[in-house]
This record gives sequence, C-alpha cells and structure tokens, in this order.
Amino acid sequence: MEEKTKVFSSSNKGLLQSKELYQYILDTSVYPREPELLRELREVTATHPRAGMGTAPDSGQLMAILLKLLNAKRTIEIGVFTGYSLLLTALNIPEDGKIIAIDEDSAAYEMGLPIIKKAGVEHKIDFIESKALQALDKIVQKPDSEGSFDFAFVDADKVNYWNYHERLLKLVKVGGLAVYDNTLWGGSVAMPEDAVGHMLKEGRKLTIEFNNLLAKDARVQICHASIGDGMTICKRIS
Ligand code: SAH
Ligand code: CA
Repeated sequence: MEEKTKVFSSSNKGLLQSKELYQYILDTSVYPREPELLRELREVTATHPRAGMGTAPDSGQLMAILLKLLNAKRTIEIGVFTGYSLLLTALNIPEDGKIIAIDEDSAAYEMGLPIIKKAGVEHKIDFIESKALQALDKIVQKPDSEGSFDFAFVDADKVNYWNYHERLLKLVKVGGLAVYDNTLWGGSVAMPEDAVGHMLKEGRKLTIEFNNLLAKDARVQICHASIGDGMTICKRIS
C-alpha cells in the first residue's frame, strides 16, 4: 500500500542511493579539480530559480575527458542554460575550436556570459538563439556540414531527443560522439508509472522511448552511464 502512494522526485544527489557517497565523489575527485571559472559559473547559477538544470559537475568531468580523448575541435551543444557544459566544452577544445551552441532562450546564457568572457573562450562559441530542431535543420542543409563535427551534447527538450539524434548522426563524423543527458530521468525510468510524481511522468515516458530506440540503433555504440541524471554516450560507428 505504502509503496503505491510513494512519490518519487528528482533530487540533486544524482542516482546514487547515498547522498554521502555522492558528496564524497564531489569532495574527493570533482571539486578539487574543477577549473575556478567553472566553479564560479556554478555558484552564479545557484542563484537562478532553475539552478537544478545546470550540468552536474561530475558529469562535466566525464564530458571533459571524452572531449580530450577525442581531440574534439568542432562541437554542437543543444541546451545551454547558463553555460556550465558550454564553458566546460570551450575549456577542453583547442584555441581554434568551435562550438555551435543552441538555446531557444538567451536570458540564462547572459548570466554566464561574463564568466565565459573572463575565461577568454568566447571566440570559440557561436551562440544561436533558436528552437534547436530548426537550427539543426539549417546546419544539416549547409554544404560540407555532413560528418564535420567531433562531438555533440544534447541537454534540452526530451520530446525531441530522437529528432536531434537523427540529425546529429548526419553531422557528427564516424568515430565522433553524441552525448545525451538526463537519460535516467531521476531514476523514474525504472519505477512503475503510478509511483512517479506528476512532474516526472511525461519525461519518464519520453526517456524510456528514447532509451529503447537507442538500444536498437546499430549506427551507434552506446554506453548508458549512471552519472548525474544519467548520460548516454553514443559513438557513431556507421
Ligand atoms: N547544458 C546546460 C543545461 C541545459 S537546461 C548546463 O550545463 O547548464 C535546458 C535548456 O534547454 C534550457 O536553457 C532551455 O531554454 C533549452 N531548451 C528547451 N527546449 C529547447 C528547444 N526546443 N530548443 C532549444 N533550446 C531548448
Ligand atoms: Ca541536464
């Protein structure tokens, strides 16, 4: 009985069952190695009413190592918010690297921009204020865009994740990565629907559908990492 009425909600402790264990990872391995300006951006973001949307710093650490391993130079980001994952990407690509960063709303980006400027990486960023699907379709139509990106990070509206994936598999080169955030949706993907709070229901359904499609997609090698709110790393193999 009690189980049924239990309502699960998203929390900031990631998906680990212990808050203490997550704090241990942050204190031991993440915060001491977090670049100062990323920390500053995280602290500024904490004052935003929707601060919880910012990329978790432990997920950021995984993204940073992927970018370095790939020697990523040209990247796409869908869903910028105040710019934590964007600044992180800019810090991990070379001086002449480029990020196409897309968000339908630039207000939160304006909050992070002074810190991005202070980091001296603004020149690497091409910010496009637009619905992501429209912006991606324009990029796909450009000659030479096919296979010209090393890395993509998707962290916007979950309803379009598969649409983004279809376009990114044209834009990202074979051997490149497309990384999708929030693919465990607060852990709700593994909970019975009636145990999930109203706020999580729609995202849970969309995330389950997306995860099932990715699992069957032979064009990519995948790793569903249980970090942050779940992050699925897809390597384009064909
Ligand atoms: N990666 C960010 C967090 C992104 S939060 C970070 O590290 O902080 C999700 C963002 O997606 C929001 O800023 C929202 O404005 C944007 N977004 C939502 N739907 C979108 C759409 N259809 N097109 C473009 N951006 C969208
Ligand atoms: Ca996210």
